Amino acid sequence: MAYGSALEKKLARKTTRAIVDFDMIEDGDRVMVGLSGGKDSWALMQVLDALRRRAPIDFSLVAVNVDSGYVDYKHETIARTCEARDWEYRIEHTKIGEIIDDKLDEAATPCSLCARLRRGVLYRIASDVGATKIALGHHADDFIETLLLNLFFSGSLKAMPARLVSDDGQHVVIRPLVYVSEEEAREYTEQAELPVIGCCCPVCGDLSLQRQRMKRLLIGLEREHPGVKQSMLKALGNVGERHLLDRRLNPVAELRRTVAQQLDATASTAAV
Ligand code: SF4
Repeated sequence: MAYGSALEKKLARKTTRAIVDFDMIEDGDRVMVGLSGGKDSWALMQVLDALRRRAPIDFSLVAVNVDSGYVDYKHETIARTCEARDWEYRIEHTKIGEIIDDKLDEAATPCSLCARLRRGVLYRIASDVGATKIALGHHADDFIETLLLNLFFSGSLKAMPARLVSDDGQHVVIRPLVYVSEEEAREYTEQAELPVIGCCCPVCGDLSLQRQRMKRLLIGLEREHPGVKQSMLKALGNVGERHLLDRRLNPVAELRRTVAQQLDATASTAAV
C-alpha cells in the first residue's frame, strides 16, 4: 500500500490525536512496539512508521516479538517482514506456553497469566534496547470491551490507560490506537499486506472466553443501534464523576459525611 492512502491518513489522524491527547511520544523517544504478529500490532507498527517519517519530531521504532514457544508459531515470517520493510526488530524466544500449561488447570483461562508473563518480558527487553516508551496495539474495541468486562464481572468502572507509568516508574506504556476501531486496524493491515500470524495458543479465538462474549454483545448492539461503540468510547473521556457512587471522586459528599459523623459523635458525647 502506498503511503498516504485515505485509510492510512485516517489512522494517522486518529493516532496523532491520541499521541497529543495523552502526551505519548516526545522528541528523542525510542518507541518499542509489542509486535505479536496479530492484525492490531501490525497496524500499530505500520502507522507509527508512517508517522515517524513525517513527524516534526525525531523518534525511533524497534519492534519486539515475544515468542511463547508454541511449535507452529511463525516467528520467522515476522522476522522476514520486518527485514523487508527495514524495521528494526528483535524476537525473544520464551517458554511462556509451557509455564502456562504447568500452572493452570484445564478449566482456567490463561489470558491474564499470559499477559502478565509477556508484560514482564517486554519490560526486560525495553531496558535492554533502551526504549523510552512501550507501545501496545490495543484499539478502541479493546477499551470498550474491557470497560464492559470490568463493569459486568469485576464491580469496577474502568477500561485501560492510554498512557501508563509502570509501578516501579521505569517504563511508560502507551496505546496509540485508542481511537482506532478494530475494523479499521484489520482493514489497514490487509491493505498494507502484512501477514497476520496466529499466536498458536490453545485458547486463541475460543468464543467461550468472557472477552469474546463482550465482543458478540457489542456486535449485536452496534447492529441495532449504530454508533453505540463510538458513544461508549466518548463516554470514557466524558466522566460525570459526581453522578457515580465512588466517594473518592466526590470530595464534597465525603466532607459532608465526615462532618455528619463528627456531629453524631459530639451529640453522643453531650448526651452522656
Ligand atoms: S489468547 Fe492465548 S496468547 Fe492470547 S492472551 Fe490468551 S493465552 Fe495469551
